[in-house]
Amino acid sequence: MALLEIRDLKVTYRMPDLGIEVAALRGVDLDVDRGEVLGLVGESGSGKSTLAHAIMRILKPPAYLQSGHIYLDGVDILSLNESVFDKEYRWRRIAFVPQASQNALNPTMRVLDHFLDTARYHGLADRREVERRAAELLTATGLDPSRVLRLYPHQLSGGMKQRVLIALSLLLEPLLLILDEPTSALDVVTQASILKVISDINKKLGITIIFITHDISLTPSIAHKIAVMYAGKIVEVGPAEKVINEPLHPYVSALISSTPSLYADISMVRPIPGEPPSMTERMTGCPFWPRCPYAKDVCKGEEPVLYQIDNRKVACHLWRS
Ligand code: SF4
Repeated sequence: MALLEIRDLKVTYRMPDLGIEVAALRGVDLDVDRGEVLGLVGESGSGKSTLAHAIMRILKPPAYLQSGHIYLDGVDILSLNESVFDKEYRWRRIAFVPQASQNALNPTMRVLDHFLDTARYHGLADRREVERRAAELLTATGLDPSRVLRLYPHQLSGGMKQRVLIALSLLLEPLLLILDEPTSALDVVTQASILKVISDINKKLGITIIFITHDISLTPSIAHKIAVMYAGKIVEVGPAEKVINEPLHPYVSALISSTPSLYADISMVRPIPGEPPSMTERMTGCPFWPRCPYAKDVCKGEEPVLYQIDNRKVACHLWRS
């Protein structure tokens, strides 16, 4: 049994001003195994962050959960009452570092106080134990606790703040850590060091991680598995090296070809033609067909389901048997 199992998850945004509802997640199915790093990739608006918010149960109006199930360790967490979920699951079993969260650190509190405050909120009263654990986690993220615990957020660089947030998210020893674009707004060198931190904590602590990014080129170095989203659905999922080296879905192939790499010739970069579909308009068929060089008549009328191809899944009619 996978640690996290998501089944037919649908999230919709109500837009009363426009008199419409916009489907942000249109039936997501995804498994995340224990101890693995999943790279969750997609363009802006593909539904990655909405999926993270649904797992954390922090969707805010106008978004609402329409249907589906999320099982963590076999428990359907969407069926739990809010106080049980808040006390026993949110941060304790599933921790989340949202996008651009470096600015969420309280500028008036030292780093140690952030750890003590979080511990207090969750009923951990032993200050010595919290200090010991904070030092251990900061060390695991490559920071020197004897110095960093005394500092205020303004005394930290962007990369250090991100490391502190990752360490803080691990305080309650969660089973699953979700990092939403943890390397955005960081320079390339700092990005590489944060990727190493994520890989190290996965290896040292065995924690299961969902690493959300719009940049597929960041995933091969840390992800065991990659899931690619397009228009609110998973379109391909499988072992990282397979997805990167032999993508099955035309969109994933185009995404890889459109991504500049430090090692490849820049003239080989090919932008994806056209635009992602407008989620406010009714879609028929495969949402990628207006941009797809392989589109056939069936693609315009029928949306493909996820087909199992060896140890991968792909939503494309080309792979229908
Ligand atoms: Fe292209 Fe058709 Fe496959 Fe969609 S289903 S990705 S349009 S070939």
